[in-house]
Amino acid sequence: MAAKERPIFLVDDPIFDEHRARGYHPERPERLLAVRHAVSAFAGSRGGLTSLAPRDASDDEIERVHTPRYVEQLEQADGLFSALDDDTYLAPRSVAAARRAAGGALALVDALLGAEDGATGVALVRPPGHHARPDRGMGFCLLNNVALAAAHALERGKKRVAIVDWDVHHGNGTQDAFYRDPRVLFISLHQAPFYPGSGNAAEVGDGEGTGFNVNVPLSAGASDAVYAAAFDRLVLPVLDQYAPDLMLVSAGFDAHARDPLAGMMLSAEGFRRMASGVRGVAERHAQGHLGLLLEGGYDLEGLETSLLATLEAVAGPAVAPSQVADQAPLSMRQTGDLERAATALRPFWKV
Ligand SMILES: [Zn+2]
Repeated sequence: MAAKERPIFLVDDPIFDEHRARGYHPERPERLLAVRHAVSAFAGSRGGLTSLAPRDASDDEIERVHTPRYVEQLEQADGLFSALDDDTYLAPRSVAAARRAAGGALALVDALLGAEDGATGVALVRPPGHHARPDRGMGFCLLNNVALAAAHALERGKKRVAIVDWDVHHGNGTQDAFYRDPRVLFISLHQAPFYPGSGNAAEVGDGEGTGFNVNVPLSAGASDAVYAAAFDRLVLPVLDQYAPDLMLVSAGFDAHARDPLAGMMLSAEGFRRMASGVRGVAERHAQGHLGLLLEGGYDLEGLETSLLATLEAVAGPAVAPSQVADQAPLSMRQTGDLERAATALRPFWKV
């Protein structure tokens, strides 16, 4: 690659801080302070990122994924304290923040598609999105930002959009949005059994979308080596066969060992490897166009260090996970997890 630095777009907006529960909630605005620290540290070492002005997603754009009835339900809650379920609060500014977060995801796609080769970007959005189903928000999520980004890319003429979801929870909302649609390949790695309970390897899609929904459920305790093996053996081979023309990531950082909600053992290096892997896929198939959207991650230090490593990997040369992974031997249980996922994939992909 030329030494010239690639543009990296940044989506952020003060309204994302205004989504705040009345009492303590792990999905809190302080998370943004952590990710902004990471961005500052990264920018200090490399030079600036290109800030994008997020806009509000319109009803029509939101209804590419969500039902009009759900959009109306959110509008009725605008300005009030309420909740969609026990986990998912709404504060007076939450609906406005969700519209801006979704619009930020769309602005990121617009910027990537309009940019030179190798442009990447990160959207530091709140509230997160990947649990939001077409007809209801759940799991801290109101609007499904990454699904809306993918739908927008399809609307703009992309033919094959890949979404890798490395948040520790299964991206059930994103799965639901594209379960019958081969134009979006969805790959989720997640702790199982765990919230929200979906994401079995046998959930491979339906109808024309059969084979284009990939779940890699992993037992609690998975380390950098487990995720690196999952990427090497399953995720990257499937992505290379699919050859996406846009690469998106649901970038949650709650599989970090320090995370208080989950039980995985990833370090920042683990995220660096995964980010480098998707960067390589984007390079090989999608003119380098890669967009990352923030999902979960509830330990502030884990969030900051992991996002910084991710940004460095996205900006740097692509390295296959196998080139950097210390291939610590996997336990029988961990090997079994990967083998079960591979068995579900083999009718559709060479893995
Ligand atoms: Zn999560």
